[in-house]
Amino acid sequence: MESKKYVYLFKEGNAKMRNLLGGKGANLAEMTNLGIPVPQGFTVSTEACVKYYTDDKKISDDIKDQINEALKQLENISSKRFGDTEKPLLVSVRSGARVSMPGMMDTILNLGLNDNTVEGIAKLMNNDRFAYDSYRRFIQMFSDVVMGIEKRKFENLIDSAKEENNVKFDTELKSEDLKKLVLKFKQLYKKEIGTDFPQDPKEQLLESITAVFRSWDNPRAIVYRRINDIPGDWGTAVNVQAMVFGNMGDTSGTGVAFTRDPATGEKKIFGEYLINAQGEDVVAGIRTPQPITKLAEDLPQCFDEFMNIAQKLEKHYKDMQDMEFTIEQSKLYFLQTRNGKRTAQAALKIAVDMVNDGSLSKDEAILRVEPKQLDSLLHPVFDISELKKTEVIAHGLPASPGAASGKICFTAEEAKNHHGSGEKVILVRLETSPEDIEGMVAAEGILTVRGGMTSHAAVVARGMGTCCVAGCGEININEDEKIFSVKGKTYHEGDFISLDGSTGNVYGGAIKTSSPEISGYFETFMGWADSIRKLKVRTNADTPKDARQAIEFGAEGIGLCRTEHMFFEEDRIAAVREMIVAKTTEQRKKALAKILPMQKKDFIGIYEAMEGKEVTIRFLDPPLHEFLPTAEEDIKNLAVEMNISLDELKGTISYLHEFNPMMGHRGCRLCVSYPEIAEMQTTAVIESAIEVIRNKRYNIVPEIMIPLVGELKELKFVKNIVLETADAIIKREGIDLKYKVGTMIEVPRAALLADEIAKEAEFFSFGTNDLTQLTFGFSRDDAGKFLGDYYDNKIYESDPFAKLDQIGVGKLVELAVTLGRKTRPDIHLGLCGEHGGDPSSVEFCHNVGLDYVSCSPFRVPLARLAAAQAQVKNPRG
Ligand code: PEP
Ligand code: MG
Repeated sequence: MESKKYVYLFKEGNAKMRNLLGGKGANLAEMTNLGIPVPQGFTVSTEACVKYYTDDKKISDDIKDQINEALKQLENISSKRFGDTEKPLLVSVRSGARVSMPGMMDTILNLGLNDNTVEGIAKLMNNDRFAYDSYRRFIQMFSDVVMGIEKRKFENLIDSAKEENNVKFDTELKSEDLKKLVLKFKQLYKKEIGTDFPQDPKEQLLESITAVFRSWDNPRAIVYRRINDIPGDWGTAVNVQAMVFGNMGDTSGTGVAFTRDPATGEKKIFGEYLINAQGEDVVAGIRTPQPITKLAEDLPQCFDEFMNIAQKLEKHYKDMQDMEFTIEQSKLYFLQTRNGKRTAQAALKIAVDMVNDGSLSKDEAILRVEPKQLDSLLHPVFDISELKKTEVIAHGLPASPGAASGKICFTAEEAKNHHGSGEKVILVRLETSPEDIEGMVAAEGILTVRGGMTSHAAVVARGMGTCCVAGCGEININEDEKIFSVKGKTYHEGDFISLDGSTGNVYGGAIKTSSPEISGYFETFMGWADSIRKLKVRTNADTPKDARQAIEFGAEGIGLCRTEHMFFEEDRIAAVREMIVAKTTEQRKKALAKILPMQKKDFIGIYEAMEGKEVTIRFLDPPLHEFLPTAEEDIKNLAVEMNISLDELKGTISYLHEFNPMMGHRGCRLCVSYPEIAEMQTTAVIESAIEVIRNKRYNIVPEIMIPLVGELKELKFVKNIVLETADAIIKREGIDLKYKVGTMIEVPRAALLADEIAKEAEFFSFGTNDLTQLTFGFSRDDAGKFLGDYYDNKIYESDPFAKLDQIGVGKLVELAVTLGRKTRPDIHLGLCGEHGGDPSSVEFCHNVGLDYVSCSPFRVPLARLAAAQAQVKNPRG
């Protein structure tokens, strides 16, 4: 049986083989086929990397054989021999996953050099200095990148050599000095590793290929994959390519360039190069590179050829290209091309420009912009130059995107006061609760020690569009003393810190931020996304302000109005607490009577803001612990208000304390115990709708959503109260008002019995925050503490509260969709968990045929784009 193919010469591949050859390998193959000058070589496939891991981190003999065979062919193509002293073949080794992945292994150049071949190169090039400089670079790179010897140790040896010879720059070291340096480098290698520096080029190559495979699993790569949704089982390819030298004098050079400006998207060549230099010199910043346009003066023929090929590549790939090139004695080579990374502004401009000039269809253009990139258009961003100068002191969950900088405040009250006097503040809390809402509104950013991606802080901050880093367990906080410490340093109230809510980084100092500007390109592009997508996008909004913001961002309705969030304001929370701790129906009704007008006023505001667009109002669902007073003063005030003794109230609070509040007396369970709550809420929903219909003539069909249902009878119990109350009001008012009653599917039992539940529910909205919590049995507030261990051990790859677990929780969603439709074919289906604003989860919702997703206002554009991309990839009618 012929063994599977793991190694491909460049001429054997093409751009479509990206999954197998990695992005770099596939593009080198494609360029080879297009007749573009590319130093030849071969790619060891991603499947070889996967096999390396399944074979207990060993490269199997058949793969080694294929590598040797490819080497032979490369020797023939280049007329050079690996390890030959006369005409030695030297190669570079580079990693190359399907998508470009910072954090993976750095490039190794000049591989194949040893004590003999270095002499061959010296003779061949007629340049001793060049040969030994190449050799010392190779030893340094191999030792650092493959063997993990600190680069600094080699740099120290270079510094001593310069000192000894009384010179300032590396370039001033003579060939004799470099020969000595090579000896010293090899001694250092032996001291660190215990064996001689490998002289066999094949051994050097195998070690390097193994190191690339290993680097797929280094911690930096794992974190990068998690943040960017890259599966761990993709593996990386390895590219082995014949060396060309940009450091062979004044007719040689090396550089990088983009076909358009990656910051603005402007259509003009953008890049830089260095004459007489090798790859890492450009990056190392020792010499200042020249703008690419200057190449037209230095080497005009090469420049013309470069420009022609650059244009050809952009046309071919139908996208802005990021290219690396080397010129060896006036001969131009392309070492790499790929679709260039760009800012969100540039991405939009390039996509729109390329549709307008006929290079792309709208469907193609829609796939060119990363949905998550849109965040940077809607939130402040850091000044990049300042960012580099400021230390990252801790890392938490990227709970709500944006950049924020300000003075530390440890209480909501202080945050409010400092904000009132014109200061920028960061609210730092162990965790937030409804009492903190005013401080959260006042703060530029919020940092919490505890809490996950669906904790109070995360959900509320996301709703407001405020930057938030949650669950930052690295810091030790003492809220009483108003200090926190991390990595041996203590931060006090008033000290400056900065947060990046998109990465979870916490910086120890102030960093300038700038506010984004939304251009006309955004409108045009998003208009195309809207015309393509089938999945509707609603918003989770609890206030008229949020609702208006969401409409501005393109929301088509409200998919979740969390009524308990409407009572977070200080003047309201007292009434809600009164309702919660009430011992008698009478006491409760008294509290509810205070809440009714407030709730009506809010609903009126929301109906008006939505101008007749659909609004789903979810009945009360407070996990009780979020609402019980904790501060002594609040408890005292409440006792006075309720006319009961402090002790009695404290007794009630302790009675209401729950061990698992998330699985406690919440959602529809509250209405089962206290039907008067459902009665009051129905009254508020229906009466406010009637008022707005009469005043504004909007066509409103209220949607009442019952949370945390797990059983048909439970839903029916609450629904009966709703129907009775609503119908009585409608009759009293003599108006023809339609309304709908539906439920959330957020308890696994409801998903399993969705055919039953659908008998009484006119719509389902998947509450995937709770559904995830209850399916995994992970607390949504605390899972962050141990999820890291799950990532490290490769049990889970990503936070299931941020990115829907499509195989587990998703299976329940799919089941409920099928069962629900069986009972009620026209059942309206949506999703309102935080996953509604995550691109891969939105794609899943499209694929299973939901009618809409609902997400916080600032994620609406992202969801619109993700929905359009899902339609392009998998069209549905
Ligand atoms: C959910 O559980 O997914 C949901 C949207 O409700 P909440 O986050 O308010 O529990
Ligand atoms: Mg829920």
